[in-house]
Amino acid sequence: MLRPPSQRPLTLSARAEALQPSLTLAIAAKAKSLKAEGHDICSLSAGEPDFETPAFIRQAAVDALNAGHTRYGPAAGEPALREAIAHKLSHENGVATGTDQVLVTNGGKQALYNLFQVLLQPGDELLLPAPYWLSYPEMARLAGASVRVLPSSAAAGFRLDPAQLEAAITPASKLLVLNSPSNPTGMVLSRSELEAIAAVLRRHPQLAVVCDEIYEFLLAPGHQHHSLAAVAPDLADRIFSVNGFAKGWAMTGWRIGWLAGNREVVKAAIALQSQSTSNVCSFAQFGALAAIAGPRDCVHQMAERFNERRQLLSDGLQAIDGLQLLPPEGAFYAFPDISSTGLDSMRFCNRLLDEQGLAVVPGVAFGDDRCIRLSCAAANATIEDGLNRLQRFIRSL
Ligand code: GLU
Repeated sequence: MLRPPSQRPLTLSARAEALQPSLTLAIAAKAKSLKAEGHDICSLSAGEPDFETPAFIRQAAVDALNAGHTRYGPAAGEPALREAIAHKLSHENGVATGTDQVLVTNGGKQALYNLFQVLLQPGDELLLPAPYWLSYPEMARLAGASVRVLPSSAAAGFRLDPAQLEAAITPASKLLVLNSPSNPTGMVLSRSELEAIAAVLRRHPQLAVVCDEIYEFLLAPGHQHHSLAAVAPDLADRIFSVNGFAKGWAMTGWRIGWLAGNREVVKAAIALQSQSTSNVCSFAQFGALAAIAGPRDCVHQMAERFNERRQLLSDGLQAIDGLQLLPPEGAFYAFPDISSTGLDSMRFCNRLLDEQGLAVVPGVAFGDDRCIRLSCAAANATIEDGLNRLQRFIRSL
């Protein structure tokens, strides 16, 4: 007998049932709430710059708010901001980009989400080099696609091997993710590595690429960021760039990012955004406009501080017996191998938090259970405190 609607249990969609909440956000939130409860907690978990957004950017948003930019704007973003992003891509990254190839999104995350939704469907495959940032596979599955992980290891330098990439490609392979500088490993793809990847792509015309360039300004000395579409302009029509203001300009809470690439695909992503979230917060976009149109001094000053901190974290981790570290080349993470402790990464991180009050993220969330991720987006004293706690924990095992 059918039960009346009011008595039927609420069921979740299969999509929602299968969805894992973001562990990076969950651990950062847990560390914050333990601290608020008075526990002695040191957090090297979420990658969030601790600097304040530069004053001229905040002022531009305040001015826009006071000037009445408080209403709906175009779903694709403020025209002046789209134009400034297109200008940045064309002149700073060497990727000729028209304004209509840019969509302003609610952080880099929505750019990825929208792209996956408009490109991927059941039967398609996302090619994902591991270790990977944990939201890519979840977003691909939300679009109905399957995920083919391309494993790598610290022993292989966490590099993407072009031969391995080529061997993994099937007729279903639709989209490859490249994230350089990488979260969580900090590896940076060199120009010659990108050229080798481009050579593979030329042999597989059905495969598109999304380059997550959110850490482009955060590079250790001696490393340079190259955009794949600048290295291989002949492939530009199937290379997408995702980026945002969070990391370079210390604007995590503003939630402003962008998707750029193939006009028709970006047009579909704009349609999706117009039916889902509409425009990104109107006055916040004017802060972002001031940021991107302004001088890069503030970005470089913060990047310089991150260089010092990355070095501090790297040196400290390398000095701890029982850890193996490939020194990061960019971004603000280190991803040491903890497997000599005999603990899996989840148990390691849970015990580290319980016993020493240090919050870090288990590598299993990034596709490598032998490692843990520590962020150096924190003050030197916090990094030093975290290193001491980690050392005490490992000694205690
Ligand atoms: N991308 C940053 C991280 O991995 C921020 C948190 C998130 O969005 O996952 O820590």
